[in-house]
Amino acid sequence: MKSLPGPVERLIDHFAKLPGIGPKSAARIVFQLVHAPAEYVSDFADSLVSIKRDIAFCRECHNITDQGTDTCAVCSNPSRDHSEILVVEDILDLFAFERTGSYKGIYHVLGGLISPVEGIGPEQLNIGTLVARVKRLVSDSTVELVIATNPNLEGEATGMYLKEELEGIAGVSITRLARGLPSGADLDYADSTTLERALSGRSGF
Ligand SMILES: [Zn+2]
Repeated sequence: MKSLPGPVERLIDHFAKLPGIGPKSAARIVFQLVHAPAEYVSDFADSLVSIKRDIAFCRECHNITDQGTDTCAVCSNPSRDHSEILVVEDILDLFAFERTGSYKGIYHVLGGLISPVEGIGPEQLNIGTLVARVKRLVSDSTVELVIATNPNLEGEATGMYLKEELEGIAGVSITRLARGLPSGADLDYADSTTLERALSGRSGF
């Protein structure tokens, strides 16, 4: 694409690196922006910068939250059931369960899965904060941990590791999602009905 002006080429490269956007779609987006009103492009650019400037991570569950707040909207909501923690791989999975509108507990975002192939060990995930959090919560009530990692090799390995780390703590019960989800499926692509069914059919792990 050497015939294109530098700024256009640069922006196409940026978009093409995003998930689900190839070079063709990236070019289509950029040419649309070239023709868009200046105010729109400026608002769009500001939204992009704001993603880094105005967003922080919840110190309890690692969900995203507004900059300047310690805990996210779920953790700081007293009407959520703080004795039930749904453990998910990433924030996309958290939002998939929030979309169902029927889950009333809280979450813990691991920030990935254990993967020896990719060199990701438990110490690189948000597991230490989960253990500390569970220990703190069991002093008030029993805690149910629902392991909701994806049904693939890494998801299973991570689930097993969590079970070993946490099952010894008195007052903790560990369950996992019903296996209604197709093997290897990505939770954030599952529809709400499937997720609700997987959640209500959860069983001991
Ligand atoms: Zn939170």
